[in-house]
Amino acid sequence: MKKSEILKDLLNIPPEIWMVLAILAGIALIPIILKISTIIYIRANREKLRNSEKQKVASIENESDSLVNKYKKCLEVISDLELNQTIDCSSAVVANINRDPMSYLVKYSNVDYSHKSLDYMKGLLVFYNSYAEFYDKLQKLNIRLFNKIPVIFRPFIKLDKIEEVIYDFDDNLYEIDYPYLKFSYVSSAGRSKRNSEIELNEEQLEAIIENIKDRIGKEGHTKHQRSRMTKELREAIKKRDGYTCQICGNSIEEEPNLLLEVDHIVPVSKGGKTEPDNLQTLCWKCNREKGGK
Ligand SMILES: [Zn+2]
Repeated sequence: MKKSEILKDLLNIPPEIWMVLAILAGIALIPIILKISTIIYIRANREKLRNSEKQKVASIENESDSLVNKYKKCLEVISDLELNQTIDCSSAVVANINRDPMSYLVKYSNVDYSHKSLDYMKGLLVFYNSYAEFYDKLQKLNIRLFNKIPVIFRPFIKLDKIEEVIYDFDDNLYEIDYPYLKFSYVSSAGRSKRNSEIELNEEQLEAIIENIKDRIGKEGHTKHQRSRMTKELREAIKKRDGYTCQICGNSIEEEPNLLLEVDHIVPVSKGGKTEPDNLQTLCWKCNREKGGK
């Protein structure tokens, strides 16, 4: 078929069919036209919509500014902790980080089992909790404003579009993200790539805080209990036990050069205290054997 013939055929289509086609095209355009008019409507009524929830809009904008400012401080903490970095590592590390994120954090960032890290993590958690609250409030307010738009426009607008048009938010608000540590493995030929990531979201932050608290608590306990073991107490326990090993029964009386030691029945590392009830006299041999168990 030649071009001129196609043209001829088209011209031969009866005008009724052209009409139907034109109507169909018009119907197809309706949603696009409504979408555009919805945005025009919201833009034109921006002040009216803002004024309809004046206090709530003002408060959410204030909150967003304060979040942006607080986030700047968080970024300082994040950089001090050497987070938000990508670390080149082996494929084994990439595969394993999520089994024990804490130890990989300790190894590859400045996060450690210190009071400083603990305070930093608590600060970050407070921030991300308030960020989550902010977003809840914002969502609710978006819905309230949405419901003030005439029904006919509603199917053609998304909540985030309302957000974009209505509020005066600092662009940095949309930069707020969880701290992370990324691990990347690239094979020597560069053919194979694997990535994984520790994201310090609220849940992860809570777990890290518990980890650090636990470790600091144990260290504090150990230090304190060890410091309570004085020369006097040691002597008093040996005397109480009649200078006799509480396991084998060997005593100074039988073996004058026997080396006696004072032992924690429940070890300090397992929460045992330095108190007479938890202390016993052992000969060095039994004490080594007990320690080896
Ligand atoms: Zn013994």
